[in-house]
Amino acid sequence: MKVDTNICIRCGACASVCPVNAIEVADAYVRADKSCNNCGICAKLCPVGAVMIERKL
Ligand code: SF4
Ligand code: SF4
Repeated sequence: MKVDTNICIRCGACASVCPVNAIEVADAYVRADKSCNNCGICAKLCPVGAVMIERKL
Protein backbone atom coordinates (compact mmCIF):
# COMPACT_ATOMS: atom_id res chain seq x y z
CA MET A 1 0.00 0.00 0.00
CA LYS A 2 0.89 3.63 -0.35
CA VAL A 3 -0.57 6.60 1.49
CA ASP A 4 -1.42 9.96 -0.03
CA THR A 5 0.11 12.16 2.65
CA ASN A 6 -1.84 15.19 1.43
CA ILE A 7 -5.11 13.47 2.38
CA CYS A 8 -4.03 11.37 5.38
CA ILE A 9 -4.93 12.81 8.78
CA ARG A 10 -2.45 10.54 10.68
CA CYS A 11 -5.24 8.94 12.67
CA GLY A 12 -3.39 5.64 12.99
CA ALA A 13 -6.43 3.48 12.21
CA CYS A 14 -4.61 1.69 9.38
CA ALA A 15 -1.69 0.79 11.62
CA SER A 16 -3.96 -0.61 14.32
CA VAL A 17 -5.72 -3.04 11.95
CA CYS A 18 -2.82 -4.20 9.80
CA PRO A 19 -2.53 -7.98 10.38
CA VAL A 20 1.21 -8.00 9.69
CA ASN A 21 1.98 -4.79 11.59
CA ALA A 22 3.57 -3.25 8.51
CA ILE A 23 2.51 0.37 8.94
CA GLU A 24 4.53 3.15 10.52
CA VAL A 25 2.71 6.39 11.35
CA ALA A 26 4.87 9.49 11.75
CA ASP A 27 4.25 13.23 11.67
CA ALA A 28 5.41 13.64 8.10
CA TYR A 29 4.33 10.32 6.54
CA VAL A 30 2.52 7.01 6.89
CA ARG A 31 4.08 4.06 5.13
CA ALA A 32 4.18 0.29 5.00
CA ASP A 33 7.31 -1.83 5.05
CA LYS A 34 8.08 -4.91 2.98
CA SER A 35 5.84 -7.16 5.05
CA CYS A 36 2.77 -5.50 3.51
CA ASN A 37 0.93 -8.03 1.32
CA ASN A 38 -1.56 -5.51 -0.12
CA CYS A 39 -4.47 -7.26 1.58
CA GLY A 40 -6.50 -4.04 1.47
CA ILE A 41 -7.81 -4.09 5.04
CA CYS A 42 -6.26 -0.72 5.88
CA ALA A 43 -7.66 0.83 2.70
CA LYS A 44 -11.20 -0.23 3.66
CA LEU A 45 -10.80 1.27 7.11
CA CYS A 46 -9.15 4.59 6.29
CA PRO A 47 -11.73 7.32 7.04
CA VAL A 48 -10.45 9.68 4.35
CA GLY A 49 -9.57 7.23 1.57
CA ALA A 50 -5.87 8.03 1.63
CA VAL A 51 -4.67 4.44 1.15
CA MET A 52 -3.86 3.17 -2.32
CA ILE A 53 -3.39 -0.54 -2.85
CA GLU A 54 -0.96 -1.76 -5.47
CA ARG A 55 -2.38 -4.75 -7.24
CA LYS A 56 -0.02 -7.64 -7.79
CA LEU A 57 -0.35 -8.89 -11.37
S1 SF4 B 1 -2.55 -3.61 2.75
FE1 SF4 B 1 -2.81 -5.11 4.44
S2 SF4 B 1 -0.72 -5.79 4.91
FE2 SF4 B 1 -0.53 -3.88 3.72
S3 SF4 B 1 -0.39 -2.25 5.22
FE3 SF4 B 1 -2.58 -2.47 4.67
S4 SF4 B 1 -3.45 -3.89 6.21
FE4 SF4 B 1 -1.19 -4.08 6.29
S1 SF4 C 1 -6.18 5.27 8.33
FE1 SF4 C 1 -5.91 6.71 6.61
S2 SF4 C 1 -5.94 8.76 7.53
FE2 SF4 C 1 -5.56 7.28 9.18
S3 SF4 C 1 -3.30 7.19 9.36
FE3 SF4 C 1 -3.95 5.54 7.98
S4 SF4 C 1 -3.80 6.41 5.89
FE4 SF4 C 1 -3.79 8.12 7.36
